[in-house]
Formats: sequence, C-alpha cells, structure tokens
Amino acid sequence: MLKQRTLKSLTRAVGVGLHSGQRVEMTLRPAAPNTGIVFRRVDLPVPVDIPVRFDSVSETRMASTISPGGQPGGPKVQTIEHLMSACAGLGLDNLYVDITADEVPILDGSSASFVFLLQSAGIELQNAPKRFLKVTKTVEVREGEGARLIWARLEPHHGFKLTFQIDFNHPAVDATGQEVTFDMGSGRYKQEIARARTFGFTKDVEAMRSRGLTLGGSMDNAIVIDDYRVLNSDGLRYDDEIAKHKILDAIGDLYIAGAPLLAAYTSFRGGHALNNKLLRALLSDAGAYEYVTFEDETRAPSGFTELAPAW
Ligand SMILES: [Zn+2]
Repeated sequence: MLKQRTLKSLTRAVGVGLHSGQRVEMTLRPAAPNTGIVFRRVDLPVPVDIPVRFDSVSETRMASTISPGGQPGGPKVQTIEHLMSACAGLGLDNLYVDITADEVPILDGSSASFVFLLQSAGIELQNAPKRFLKVTKTVEVREGEGARLIWARLEPHHGFKLTFQIDFNHPAVDATGQEVTFDMGSGRYKQEIARARTFGFTKDVEAMRSRGLTLGGSMDNAIVIDDYRVLNSDGLRYDDEIAKHKILDAIGDLYIAGAPLLAAYTSFRGGHALNNKLLRALLSDAGAYEYVTFEDETRAPSGFTELAPAW
C-alpha cells in the first residue's frame, strides 16, 4: 500500500512575512492520518484552526491566503504557497502548522528552507492509504484576451507534471528561460525547483507598499528587478529561476486541493488567482475527477513511491 506521510518530530522556523513584514514563529508538528494540512493561529485569544482546502482560499492577490470557510475578513494565514509546495515536493499528507501571526515566514523566498526543515524533522510513513486526486477530464480556465490572455489547464495524466510559460515583456526577464516543464515523478523537486526564489519589480514596490504588500521584501528574500536588470549581486540561482518559481508556486497552489493531483498542468502567464480558479473549476465538476489510492504500490506512477524517502 502507498502510505500517507507525516513528520517524525516537530520543527520550528522564525522569520518575517513577505507582505506583512511581521515577525512570525512557526512550529510544524506531526498529525494523525487523514488530518491533511492544518494551520493553527496560536496567537489569537482562542486558537483558530484553518484546514487547507481549495475552498479555504479567501484572497489571491500576490499570494495564496486561507481563512476558515474561505471567508474574507476572518482569521487568516497568507503566503502559504511556498510551504505547501515543499509539503507537496516531499509528499507530506498530514501536518499541523502552529503560527504566531497571519503570514508564513518568507525565509529566503524559495521553498528550499522548508524542504530542509521538513527533512531534518524526518518523514514518517503512516498506516493509511495515500489518497490522490485523479483528473479524469480536461479542465481549463482563461482570462483576458490578446496581450492580456492568461490560461491554465489540467489534463488526465498518470503522474504529476507541470509546464509553465512566462511572458513579461521585460528585458531582464525575457533573457531568462521562458518555459519550464517539471515532472514530479523525477524525484528532483529539491534540486530543480525548491531553490527558485520569488521576484519583484522595483517599479511596483511603491504601489504595493502603499497597499500593505511586500513590507518584508528585500534582496535577502526575493529576486529584485529594475527596468533593465536583476539587482541581486549574486544574480540568479537558475537560468530560468523566474519560470521555475512559477512552477514552485503552482505546485503549492494546487496542493491546496487537499490531495496530490494526478494530472498534467499547463499554464500560460497564470498566477495564484488563476490556479485557485482552476481548482474550483475541477472540484465543482464531479465528472472531472476521482479520488484513488494504491493498494499495490507498483501501480502508482513511477517515482511517487520514492518521492519523499523516509529516513
Ligand atoms: Zn511564490
């Protein structure tokens, strides 16, 4: 049987929120089978649990934010996508995330620090079948037209593979790889994707800060790009780091479904809002998906049994 996974022991991280700029402590704890991933706001007078589900998403402007029942204005946790991406990359099904503020720490702007933390705590196999969300029919969402067109699509696939194409019409970004395909079954999430950092443009900083966004952003946790070039003195970590970060985000955003997808995902210029719209389109069509488990591990997609080696 392909089993569910949680952590062996608890682990902690301290950092600042990218958007809020607030200091935050986060404790990642093991959870029982079938718990899923649950954020717990332990700073509130009465702690509030926010289970990660596609319909818990309450805001998608610049980051993925969840609230109980998806209610905007309720207790929230923002910028969950990089931690969710690391959990997906390691195949973690069940986890409590105790958090002392309303945003996940940005750390270095990628998911590599989360991967390191989770791997240091160790991965434990649990005696319950791992449940996958298998896409059985193509689902697509589109917005805009012409130069403003963006779209994202899920197609049936025995595995989980993602293709992302960016098009920023910006000299520094256009000089990087514009399209990335990544197969989760390769087992190379940590090497190929996890180190890709978030990015921002100096021309947008003032407008975003006046709206209370990116208050914690800096060259320590983001690729910063002016009108012509990347300003970080060390340059890029991958030649196609920006497209790879979009893949990292999509892996995290799609893991908000509550189970790993068996699908091929393709997106042209999408983002957090479109990814959540795609999940809602999928899960509102009962004929487009089914939940599957693998009693016989050899029937699971190749690479998935070794995805998060337990050690
Ligand atoms: Zn991101």
